[in-house]
Amino acid sequence: MRFRSLCRHAEIGSNSYVVEVDDARIVLDAGMHPKHEGGDALPRYDLLEEGSVDATVITHAHLDHIGSLPVLLDDQPNSRVFFSPAGADLGFAMLHNSVNVMQAKRTELGLTDYPFFGHTQLDEIERRIETRATERPFDLDADGHLRATFHDAGHVLGSVAVTVQSKDHTLLYTGDVNFESSTLIKGAYLPEGPVDTLVIETTRGDSPRPESYTREAEERRFADAIAETVARGGTVLVPVFAMGKTQEVLTMIHRFKQRGWIPSRAPVVIGGLSTKMTVIYDRYAKGLTRRHDDDFRILKDMDLRAGTRRRKAPIVPEPGAIFCLSSGMMTENTVSNGFARAGFLENPKNRLLFVGYADPDSPAGHIRAAQRDDLISLDPRHPAVRLRAEVDIFDFSGHATRDDLLAYILKVKPKRTFLVHGDRPASEWFRAQLRELLPSTEAIIPEPGQTYDLGA
Ligand SMILES: [Zn+2]
Ligand SMILES: [Zn+2]
Repeated sequence: MRFRSLCRHAEIGSNSYVVEVDDARIVLDAGMHPKHEGGDALPRYDLLEEGSVDATVITHAHLDHIGSLPVLLDDQPNSRVFFSPAGADLGFAMLHNSVNVMQAKRTELGLTDYPFFGHTQLDEIERRIETRATERPFDLDADGHLRATFHDAGHVLGSVAVTVQSKDHTLLYTGDVNFESSTLIKGAYLPEGPVDTLVIETTRGDSPRPESYTREAEERRFADAIAETVARGGTVLVPVFAMGKTQEVLTMIHRFKQRGWIPSRAPVVIGGLSTKMTVIYDRYAKGLTRRHDDDFRILKDMDLRAGTRRRKAPIVPEPGAIFCLSSGMMTENTVSNGFARAGFLENPKNRLLFVGYADPDSPAGHIRAAQRDDLISLDPRHPAVRLRAEVDIFDFSGHATRDDLLAYILKVKPKRTFLVHGDRPASEWFRAQLRELLPSTEAIIPEPGQTYDLGA
C-alpha cells in the first residue's frame, strides 16, 4: 500500500490524501483551503493522472474536506464517490453555498476562475454519489483490492473516520474527530486496532486544555454569561459556524432554559445559512445517527426566530435576545459581521460570546485580540467600530484534545502514524510525544506530494 498527501500546504486547509494498492487508487477527502483563494486553495490534483481514481471518500461536510470535490471529479469522471448519508446532505448544502460565495468573490476580488463549479454541476454529482452506513464494510474498486468501513467520528453530524483495507494492510484515516460527547452528538466510536497505518488529525496539538476544565463548568459559565446579559437588557451574540456549532449551541440554550439557568422567554434568533443546516440536523434525529435526546428537534421544540438572509433587511440587535449567527469567524459579507457593525459592538450592555476556533487574521480573531475601547475594522469597506461590548471565550471545540488523540494512538499502536490537519507546532508536539512514548511507531508529518511506501 502507498500513501500520499495532496495538501498544497502542510497545515489545516485543503485536505486530500491518496491511498494506492496495485492499480487501485482512492482519494480521501477533497478540501478547499479557507484562507487561500483561487488555485492556491486547491489540493495538488495535478499530481493525479486523469481518469485514474477509482473512488473518493468524503469524511464530512466542512469545506476543508469537501470544498473542491467537483474540481477533483472534473478530471476523475469515473471515480465513485462515497459519503455517510448525513454527510452527503450537509455537504451538498455547503457546496451550493460555496458557489454563491465564489460568485461574490469573482466580482469583488476579480477572480475570473471563480466559481470553480456551479449549481447544475452539483446536482449532477449529487445524483451519482453513494452513501454508506457506519460499521458496514464496502468495496472501493471493481476488483475488490480495497475495502472501506466508516466509523462515527463524533466531530459534526455525519462525520466519519474510514478504515481502508487491502489483503494485507489496514489504514485508518480519522478525518476530524472528537472523542468526547458534545451536547447533541455523541463522541467518536473508532476501532481500537489492529491498524498498520494511522492517519490522524492534530488540530489541537499546540493548545493544551487547562486541567481544571470540565464541560459542565464551561456550560454553566456560558449560561451565566447569557443570563447576566439578558438581565441587564443587553443583547447576546454568539458567532457560530452554520453547520455543527450552531446546532450544538442551540441545543445547549434549550437545556439551559429547561434547567432555569437562563430565562425561558429570552428570544433566540438564528440567521444566515444556519436554518438550512438545522433542518438537516433535525432530519437525522430519531435513530438515524448516534446522538443524545433522540426525539429532540431543534426547529420544532425550540421557539426560534429565523432572521432573513436578504441583505436589504439586516438582522439588528434587540435587548434581551440571543443571536446565534453565522459565520463563526465573522468574515466579511456574513450575517454575524453585519450584525456586529449594526450597533452591537458599541453598546457596553451587549456581550459577544465566542464558542470555537477563530483564525487570528479573521474579524473574530481581531476582536479576540483587542482591548475594550479599541477601534476594530470588521470590513474594510465600512468604517471601523469601537469595541464596547463585553467579550468572552469558551471552549466547546469539535476537535479531540491532544491528550485524547495521543491516548488513542497509544492504544492502537500503529506501525506508522501520519500526523495531518495541524499547524507545524501541533504536529511536531505529537511527533515528539510518540518518539518518547511509542518508539515502535514511525511518526511522519507527510510532505505534500511525496509517496510513502507502507509495505504490504
Ligand atoms: Zn471539520
Ligand atoms: Zn477539518
